[in-house]
Amino acid sequence: MKAVLHNDRLKTIQRRHPWIFSKAIKRFSGSPGSGDVVTLVSEGGDFLARGLWSPESTIRLRVLTWEDELIDTGFWEKRLKRAIAWRGSVPPNEARRLVHAESDYLPGLVVDQYGGWLVLQALTAGIDRYKHDIAEILNKLLNPRGIYERSDVDVRAREGLKETTGLLLGETPPDLVEILENNHRFWVDIQHGHKTGFYLDQRENRQICADFVQPGMQVMNLFSYTGGFSVYAYAAGAETVISVDASHSALELADQNLALNGFSDTPLLAGDVFEVLRDYRREGQTFDMIILDPPKFAKSSQNLESALRGYKDINFLAWQLLKPNGILMTFSCSGLVEADLFRKVVFGALEDAGRDAQVLRQLEAPPDHPVALTFPEGAYLKGLLCRVI
Ligand code: SAH
Repeated sequence: MKAVLHNDRLKTIQRRHPWIFSKAIKRFSGSPGSGDVVTLVSEGGDFLARGLWSPESTIRLRVLTWEDELIDTGFWEKRLKRAIAWRGSVPPNEARRLVHAESDYLPGLVVDQYGGWLVLQALTAGIDRYKHDIAEILNKLLNPRGIYERSDVDVRAREGLKETTGLLLGETPPDLVEILENNHRFWVDIQHGHKTGFYLDQRENRQICADFVQPGMQVMNLFSYTGGFSVYAYAAGAETVISVDASHSALELADQNLALNGFSDTPLLAGDVFEVLRDYRREGQTFDMIILDPPKFAKSSQNLESALRGYKDINFLAWQLLKPNGILMTFSCSGLVEADLFRKVVFGALEDAGRDAQVLRQLEAPPDHPVALTFPEGAYLKGLLCRVI
């Protein structure tokens, strides 16, 4: 099956951007269905690319290859092998992202490894169609104990797909799987946790956080989830780390993770960060370090403005609650909020708080979450580590 690209969209091809929007397609032959392989040609009939068709999405075709090659089992195996090889050898009880979708030249596919278990996310119609073949290949390449699907992500609705979870191959993972991250132990709930169970994209930033903790510090870990940053901060000598999250189940697991690393009876606060910060301001509490790792506030360009207000609000409050020389680690995982814009929001909040600060580190996701230069949308996680004056 073929689709013809509008002549004025040839730039996309030169730039090797993997998304071909419906408006860029002049016409197509046959009646490609969900996840079918479609060849993209120029108006003159020349081969341009080959990819998978998403009939319901405005991103109609996701390019898999710029070469005239077959999309068969051998193709998938070659791509998966390469992505896995790029990660080097992962120690058996550690966790890594093995496939990071577009940036690993496998649009719509995420594969994470937690010790002996693999978790697969199929974000597009194309990957949904091939997920069982992909699981078979992963099984052959890595021989995991089991491959579990966590395709319960709202972006699937844009593809006309329902959310789905369940076992693809092998054994069902236990309720909690233990992983080791920079020598800290964590329980991961593969079946019900956020994303594929754990925020693997913050692995290096948690270590950087520890590098800036001084013994005796009072730390607040906002949007703590299962206590990732809290464990590192305690291990680095913090006196207190208050873990704040709206989710009771996340805090329960945070408590278990802290205990697993030898820290018991740590303060856990269930509540809305926006309110918690206002309460602390009213009480005049101050902190040596604040970590702000909110969920994705900007879900679409329609709510970008309100998302920016949200980022500004929490950063404004955090700046006010820091002691002189205090450290703020602040993040945004909204792909729509680019690094420059995020920095402006954080600066705007600082101005409103009437303080001054230095940026000590610019933060991003680790190399197992690469960003293809041809796919700038992949740079979703950005952060700043600052010292307030
Ligand atoms: N820093 C974490 C990941 C944070 S994910 C880590 O390293 O693992 C974002 C978290 O914010 C989720 O656990 C979610 O439950 C929580 N959350 C979302 N909105 C919130 C709110 N308004 N107040 C408090 N927590 C919230």
